[in-house]
Amino acid sequence: DTPILEFKDTSFVYHGARKETIHPFDFAVKEGETIGVIGGTGSGKSTFVSLIARLYDVTSGRILYRGVDEKELKPEFIRGKIGFVPQKASLFEGSLRDNMKWGKEDATDEEIYQALDISQAREFVDQKEQRLDFRIEQNGGNLSGGQKQRLTIARALVRKPEILILDDSASALDFATDARLRKAIKENTDNMTVFLVSQRVSTIRNADHILVLDDGKIAGIGTHLQLLKGNQVYKEICASQMAGEEA
Ligand code: ADP
Repeated sequence: DTPILEFKDTSFVYHGARKETIHPFDFAVKEGETIGVIGGTGSGKSTFVSLIARLYDVTSGRILYRGVDEKELKPEFIRGKIGFVPQKASLFEGSLRDNMKWGKEDATDEEIYQALDISQAREFVDQKEQRLDFRIEQNGGNLSGGQKQRLTIARALVRKPEILILDDSASALDFATDARLRKAIKENTDNMTVFLVSQRVSTIRNADHILVLDDGKIAGIGTHLQLLKGNQVYKEICASQMAGEEA
């Protein structure tokens, strides 16, 4: 089975920067897996997922998509396979339907409803009439941060991407909604590979693999339990969050 993504000695340096933001690493992702990416602010999480989405070219090493070097594939081809939800949720002016059709012009209302359902954004559908509510057009500025995040995730899901990247995209959601969203993605998408970037252990702890980033280095790769046993950086992140919850 060829991995959907493979990193081989992959590293990245921002233009003009003196040192690597992502140090060379190896990692393979199987189709359908959920990968958690955790680390403090500035540890390199966003840079790492931006490389997957081909927003930047790797400085050295390779990223393979289904066994093919991404450099041999058009960036648009790769981006077409990926639903990238950036840290800062943004909707453009226009109707909810226009927003949802971004990237998939021929999306049917059925597809849009399903995406809104998975992303826990049901309040935008008139359930009785099965009609989209056009609230964005009317008063988009009144949407909360959490509503914007859920709609931005829905917009990525409408395209049914092979790879979904949520770059801290659930940070404004409460724990219960975040959990329901992750469960719905797992249950309602067909073998989608999901990257969950977060500073919250609760968001990534059930992932198949967790990458721990520390100052651009992969400080550990494993499941929550494996890392909890053997990885100092991960243990410290968990301990500080437990202390925060108790305080
Ligand atoms: P995280 O997502 O974990 O907060 P980032 O990937 O955003 O981390 O940042 C990692 C490092 O790269 C930080 O030191 C940050 O200052 C630097 N960095 C991020 N974006 C750029 C950029 N466009 N140009 C130069 N340096 C950057």
